[in-house]
Amino acid sequence: MQVLKLAVQKSGRLSERSFQLLKECGIKIPNEDRKLYSSASNFPLEILYLRDDDIPQYVEQGVADIGIVGWNEVVEQDKNVEVVEYLGFAQCRLCLAIPKDADYTGLAYFEHKRIATSYPNTLKNFFDSQGIPVEIEKIGGSVEIAPRMGLADAIFDIVSTGSTLLMNGLKEVYTVLKSEAVLVKNTYLATDKQNILDKFVFRIKAVKNASENKYILLNAPNEALPNIIKILPGIKSPTILPLAETGWSSLHSVVKEDQFWDIIDQLKALGAQGILVCSIEKMVI
Ligand code: ATP
Ligand code: MG
Repeated sequence: MQVLKLAVQKSGRLSERSFQLLKECGIKIPNEDRKLYSSASNFPLEILYLRDDDIPQYVEQGVADIGIVGWNEVVEQDKNVEVVEYLGFAQCRLCLAIPKDADYTGLAYFEHKRIATSYPNTLKNFFDSQGIPVEIEKIGGSVEIAPRMGLADAIFDIVSTGSTLLMNGLKEVYTVLKSEAVLVKNTYLATDKQNILDKFVFRIKAVKNASENKYILLNAPNEALPNIIKILPGIKSPTILPLAETGWSSLHSVVKEDQFWDIIDQLKALGAQGILVCSIEKMVI
């Protein structure tokens, strides 16, 4: 039987969430010691454990059929792979940062400046597109200390909260790329492998939908229901059940996580009471 080969980061910022996603998709990986590869026990999936830098190339060459990797790495390496799904974790941005006391005058500031980065291709493409000549110093890690060491005037690096920059006397001045983990696939996937991938993506979508939505239950006087239904449309339409007390109903629906607090305020204003909000484990629309 065909098996789909998935490349994941062996250890690093993508690893735990990648394994969590597999678990939430109901895929069991018995051999968790992450040597080189292991097979799922209940899904036709084989896991290859790699450095994240190698994942786009392995997927392009078909050594792995699919991979979970940062979008920033896909852009930097410019390999021929297709993004199947944005996964919503490992969110970060690739930014330009300069010494905190420097006077930032816009992108022209960088003209003929030396910029240290581990993402030279992304940086070069960006400044080429702006028509601004810069000098790029490629370094492997600890990019943020390069200005203090006199190796560069500025840096181009991954930022999530900005605290590392602050600690190194730098300030973020421009975001070039926003990134998150993505599922990529080989461009020439055979049909039987594509069928397995479709099943895997179906599960990923159910997990993602669930995490982006909440199940909401509330009690409301019957006359308030038409207005409440307008702001809680649910998947198709809300469920309404009568309460033992006449003139009152219980309403069940689904609400987007990011709209949730705004909606709660509106519901209270409309007379809703006893509002319960629960997490959803899987959601198939
Ligand atoms: P490897 O040893 O596999 O080469 P690495 O050191 O190159 O690992 P990590 O630091 O583990 O890479 O980061 C992997 C990916 O996680 C990055 O390419 C990026 O997409 C994302 N990432 C990096 N730093 C952060 C951060 N601070 N917050 C969120 N996501 C991040
Ligand atoms: Mg790496």
